[in-house]
Amino acid sequence: MDTLSKSERSARMSLVRSTDTKPELLVRRLVHGLGYRYRLHVPKLPGRPDIVFPRMRKVIFVHGCFWHRHPRCHLARLPKSKLSFWVPKLTLNRRRDVLNIRRLRHAGWQVEVIWECQIEGPELLQSTIAMMFGAKRWTIWRGEWTRDWQVERGVGDAKVVE
Ligand SMILES: [Zn+2]
Repeated sequence: MDTLSKSERSARMSLVRSTDTKPELLVRRLVHGLGYRYRLHVPKLPGRPDIVFPRMRKVIFVHGCFWHRHPRCHLARLPKSKLSFWVPKLTLNRRRDVLNIRRLRHAGWQVEVIWECQIEGPELLQSTIAMMFGAKRWTIWRGEWTRDWQVERGVGDAKVVE
C-alpha cells in the first residue's frame, strides 16, 4: 500500500535523481564560462561535493532548499502531512551537511554552498559565483561580463555594475 501523497512522492523521486539537477547544471555552466575546470561528485570527499576544484582546494555544493532545509526559505516549507516522517529525515540531512562542511574545512577545503532559490536570479548568481573565485564585483567590459581585475588591466571605459 502506497501511503505517500502525490506531491510527497514527487519530492521523493527528486531525491532519487539528486545528481545533475537543473540548478546544478546551471551553476556548472556559469563556472565553466568563467574558465574554471572542475571534477564532479568526488566520492572520497565528505558529502560528495557537487563541483570540486582540486588545485584550488575548493568545493561547491548546490543544495535543494527543501532537502537541505534552507533557513527561512519559501522553497523549504514542510508538507502539511506526514510531519513525523519529514521532520526527522530533513533534520538529519541538515545535520549531515553541517558535519560534512566542517570535515571539509578541517581538511583545508574552502566550501561554498549555492542554494536552489539563488538560481532564480541568474545575474545575481553569476556575481555570487564570481565572488567565490575572488572577484570583488562584476563589471561589463566591451559587452562581456568581466571580473574587475581584468578590467583594471584593460582600458578605462569599463562600466562598473555594483
Ligand atoms: Zn532557498
